Amino acid sequence: MLRFKNLGSGSTGNASVVEAQCGLQSTRMLIDCGLGLKELERRLIQADLCLENLDAIFITHEHVDHVGHTKRVASSLGIPVWMSQGTWLACNGLDWGFSDSQINVAKDTQVIGLGALQVTPFTVPHDAREPLQVRISDGSVSLGVLTDLGHVSTHVVQQLKGCNALMLETNHDSELLQASSYPQFLKDRISGPFGHLSNTAACKLANELNHSSLNKVLAAHLSERNNRPDIVLNCLSQALGCQENDLLVAAPDTGSPWITVL
Ligand SMILES: [Zn+2]
Ligand SMILES: [Zn+2]
Repeated sequence: MLRFKNLGSGSTGNASVVEAQCGLQSTRMLIDCGLGLKELERRLIQADLCLENLDAIFITHEHVDHVGHTKRVASSLGIPVWMSQGTWLACNGLDWGFSDSQINVAKDTQVIGLGALQVTPFTVPHDAREPLQVRISDGSVSLGVLTDLGHVSTHVVQQLKGCNALMLETNHDSELLQASSYPQFLKDRISGPFGHLSNTAACKLANELNHSSLNKVLAAHLSERNNRPDIVLNCLSQALGCQENDLLVAAPDTGSPWITVL
């Protein structure tokens, strides 16, 4: 069985936990570590887990809302951390100072076997040094995790084809972003090809990835100032031909409920 739960989403801090069960064996991986140790522990307890239940951490890229608390969490738990070489170099440059022995280098399309989880990282276009997102399987069903990308590349579509569940960035409504008080350079960065995915682009991708066995979609990494859950639910339900009630939106402070991938 494969299930996942977002623990917090957006520029204030990202973290999700993915769990696979095979017989009596459970494997749990934290994706991104943008929550402080105490806060992470609090949200894991709300998910009926504790810090010691985590087996590994996967870091998608070096932006602080994803990597910010990795050093503290990884060093206190002593568990392996996976990230790309470029992310590792960028983290070193920023003096986040991980212990080398805990670091494992993740590469585009190279499958990582982690207990009952199979994790396939893939490259995405985003303004970080070597950003990766992931497809995760328990050998039966698969979840695609895709936040922080400026545009949808052919590679992204290929990697996510056939997923049974998606956690998908719907960052901003283009009109709200353009009308916002953000300085022009920031609007250009967010809406640019290496920024974040607009609702329109996310819906186009969701439509392209839709198939009869895609049954769980969680919208994530919403801008608190330039997007609203009701706008996301409206356009995503139209793109997928489903009811708004069939979809979920990850909240910055509470994330999502546990979602079982079927
Ligand atoms: Zn982010
Ligand atoms: Zn980012």
